[in-house]
Amino acid sequence: MTVEKFTPNQTTTLSAPVKVLDADTAEKKRRVSGDARIGFVSLGCPKNLVDSERILTQLRTEGYNVVPTYNDADLVIVNTCGFIDAAVEESLDTIGEALKENGKVIVTGCLGVKEDEIREVHPNVLAITGPHAYETVVEQVHEHLPQPSHNPFVDLVPDHGVKLTPRHYAYLKISEGCNHRCTFCIIPSMRGDLVSKPVGEILDEAQRLKKAGVKELLVISQDTSAYGVDVKHRTGFWNGMPVKTHMQQLCEKLGEMGMWVRLHYVYPYPHVDNLIPLMNEGKVLPYLDIPFQHANKRILRLMKRPGSAERTLERIKAWREQCPELIIRSTFIVGFPGETEAEFEELLDFIRQAQLDRVGCFAYSEVDGAKANELPDPVPEDVKQDRLARFMQVQGEISAQRLRSRIGKEYLVVIDEVTSEGAVGRCFADAPEVDGVVHLNGVYDLNPGDQVWCEIIHSNEHDCWGVLVEEELAESVGE
Ligand code: SF4
Repeated sequence: MTVEKFTPNQTTTLSAPVKVLDADTAEKKRRVSGDARIGFVSLGCPKNLVDSERILTQLRTEGYNVVPTYNDADLVIVNTCGFIDAAVEESLDTIGEALKENGKVIVTGCLGVKEDEIREVHPNVLAITGPHAYETVVEQVHEHLPQPSHNPFVDLVPDHGVKLTPRHYAYLKISEGCNHRCTFCIIPSMRGDLVSKPVGEILDEAQRLKKAGVKELLVISQDTSAYGVDVKHRTGFWNGMPVKTHMQQLCEKLGEMGMWVRLHYVYPYPHVDNLIPLMNEGKVLPYLDIPFQHANKRILRLMKRPGSAERTLERIKAWREQCPELIIRSTFIVGFPGETEAEFEELLDFIRQAQLDRVGCFAYSEVDGAKANELPDPVPEDVKQDRLARFMQVQGEISAQRLRSRIGKEYLVVIDEVTSEGAVGRCFADAPEVDGVVHLNGVYDLNPGDQVWCEIIHSNEHDCWGVLVEEELAESVGE
């Protein structure tokens, strides 16, 4: 995982389910039972968002109506994040707000493992569960808000279930939990060891999403390249054909479905090398999101992360030789306990040499329950902030220069929204939510999900600006 995904700014609030409901037809809306209404707040990372989608899908299937305001709801579910202190605080605040505005609140998600902490602040919540406890959450809803009588409203739920992302992209979660024990992270204690989803189930879900209009799959997990390790990469089945529970085989099959396939949270295991040919064949996007976290060997050891800077640089070089278009996104932590000035300088040297396209960086902050809290020599806050600023200064120049190299080139851009300034979209090099965008100023006659060819004419540190190069909408990728 990347720490960045846990920023409380990236949240889905009560307004998100409105979009889901708005996507339904008026006819369906009329047929929704109005007497069992749920409000839902989903906080935290995309993995939590997928959990929220699953709970909402089940509730909608049972005939519950999902409503956009606290006032309209009979009961509110808050899916919390508990990764960093700021996320805990936001989760507790949100629970408080839901209690104040509505009064009937069920809590689930990562913070739910700390039931005592929640009860200490909010003793009146109806029930609390930890992450991916879908069935228990639904049972708790049954207990406090009886199921609508004319059930099941199976037809109210689209085949792909309830989605909280726009119609044209979707997160595809391929496993739960994590076998690593990075010392700054408490995910394994909250979500347990790696459990891979059966390969056939993932491929079925991807196919359903494709049928529902999804054009871009964002493959996520805590550690995407570990997919199948827990089941020793056993052979599963899909459409009657054997498919190994392995990242490479999964990517090959996903790549045949005619959607953009974007890989997030890829741990740099050796077999990641085998994905590069799939990028050249156009099966998966030439985009890798690899959270390197640091470059200094000693700090990586303290973090309990594998790898060394030289080996990583060699591999990045080899990947780029094979696939010059490859975009690499990463995240780093500065000011980890014990990090010396020399070790930080080594990290700066690394990013200068690696020339990564997109980078998130965080000043280390203690996470309750993390092993790293016990390490000696904490870095003073002002030093951490200074290192963060210096890191971002160096990377800012690299990012600006990498984006400048797109000027004059043509890219297929998928439109995410149309604002008062024009259409805003992304090309293969930009993941939603975390990367920059392509602005098409003055272009209004497009809709979210449309794909158009653009020439990039301007860029800054984060974003690009382009102009349409064709009148007609481009064909969907792979179609
Ligand atoms: S233990 Fe490491 S790899 Fe696993 S979720 Fe945490 S940071 Fe990611």
